[in-house]
Amino acid sequence: GCVMELDKMDENDWKYHGEGNKSLVVSHSQLSHVLRLLKYPAENAEHSPQTTEQAFRHIQNIVDFNKNIMKPLLGEKYVHHGEAVKLPLDFVRQLSLKVQQERPESRCDKVMDTFSGCAVCLPNLTQISSCHISQHRPPLCIEIKPKCGFLPFSRHVSKEIKRKVCRFCMHQHFKLANGKWKTMSRYCPLDLFSGNKQRMCFAIKRLLEEPQNNFKIFKNGELIYGCKEDVDLNGLAQQLKPYFYPSNGLIHGHQSSKVVLNELIQVICGALLSSWDSGRAGEPRKGEPRKGPAPEGRAHCEAGLLHRDMLRNGNHYLPKDCVLSKILQAQMLDSLDIEGLYPLYKRVERHLEEFPKERSRLQIDGPYNEHFLEKIKNCPSEDDGSIEYAVGKVHQYRVAMTAKDCSVMITLAPCGEDELPEPNLEIQPSKRRFTYSVSILDLDPKPYESIAHQYKLDSKIVNYYLRSLQSKQ
Ligand code: ATP
Ligand code: ZN
Ligand code: MG
Ligand code: MG
Repeated sequence: GCVMELDKMDENDWKYHGEGNKSLVVSHSQLSHVLRLLKYPAENAEHSPQTTEQAFRHIQNIVDFNKNIMKPLLGEKYVHHGEAVKLPLDFVRQLSLKVQQERPESRCDKVMDTFSGCAVCLPNLTQISSCHISQHRPPLCIEIKPKCGFLPFSRHVSKEIKRKVCRFCMHQHFKLANGKWKTMSRYCPLDLFSGNKQRMCFAIKRLLEEPQNNFKIFKNGELIYGCKEDVDLNGLAQQLKPYFYPSNGLIHGHQSSKVVLNELIQVICGALLSSWDSGRAGEPRKGEPRKGPAPEGRAHCEAGLLHRDMLRNGNHYLPKDCVLSKILQAQMLDSLDIEGLYPLYKRVERHLEEFPKERSRLQIDGPYNEHFLEKIKNCPSEDDGSIEYAVGKVHQYRVAMTAKDCSVMITLAPCGEDELPEPNLEIQPSKRRFTYSVSILDLDPKPYESIAHQYKLDSKIVNYYLRSLQSKQ
């Protein structure tokens, strides 16, 4: 739980850590904790209609969704659900002033919630908590926001292009046109989720080259790469060199950056494929790893510029319990695609118009408890025309949306030369050993209402992509 003394909070103990579209995160300078506060659009923050109770309920909902829905689906070991806390308003206001100058300008269209005092307290995942920490080298943490790892397989898909080019790659064109980014990312999620080491390393390399908001590196809890305008791979390699090559290492000259970054990519790939079991550490796995989802729909994305021979390397599976396999399984709960889901959403809408009181029985806005999870797990596979089927599919879709938006955190701690690492938790690139842990964060429930928006956005992205293809011909 949260060990802070909530009545003795001091803003000087906290510093800006990072933010996304919905929340701002501050980290404690000594304790390994973060606080995650919600943000609101600047224009309506002043007259926020929420009462403190409503705000706390909202935060509690997020924690419940993490704990009761995403944790069972993604695996106990990967999810830290955190705890809803009520902070002194004085503290929150001082904190808001303190962090303001650290915030990137592009994020300042929203302001931190300073009215409710509600937040989530979480372990700081950029700082490894368990295993032995080397005295000499602070932990490294790599954050990847992988996005959707499969091509839609639903028969409801109306545009053939959606079966060929993945959502992320199409969305890139749309984002560039709308000025969200200046340079195209060449990362393709289908490569990362392929289970083929070569393709995965390739995907990680492209994340490094153009991180956008999909890739970050922290050293000792501080952001050292990503989220910035300029991409400095040589500078990064310099910072990482001591982790992969001891001071008396043999690597010199202009090739060294490349070698260091390749080692990093290998380590990340190894962590993403590992199935470190919470059960019996130290017991090596025997035989072939159990297989995750079948590779249909992840064959490849035509937008990707992969060499044909890499693709001919055959079908690959992700190991069943690795973090990417868990995320992919949750993403694939979107089995109808938004085009097949939207009519069911409309069915729910009509039902609620007629019977508004059904909203709570059907758990449209939660509570996110075991009954909600049951609805997701026991949804009939065929449409029997019922409202239960429609709601089950809507709930499944929302969980999939959350899984398409989460981040993976890989925390690496170098083991000191004299310290012996635990046998099962080590990766060994060039004799440098790491202990590591893998977690998943940013698992907020996506609002039921956002489905209508998703439907419109999907056709916008696809139509834009088709038009830009035409204009190239
Ligand atoms: P998005 O726009 O991706 O939905 P968000 O607004 O929901 O983001 P988060 O992704 O949860 O916010 O948090 C923003 C950033 O803060 C993360 O990308 C990560 O770098 C950092 N962060 C969040 N939670 C933690 C944690 N428990 N430990 C360490 N860092 C964290
Ligand atoms: Zn793609
Ligand atoms: Mg995020
Ligand atoms: Mg989020």
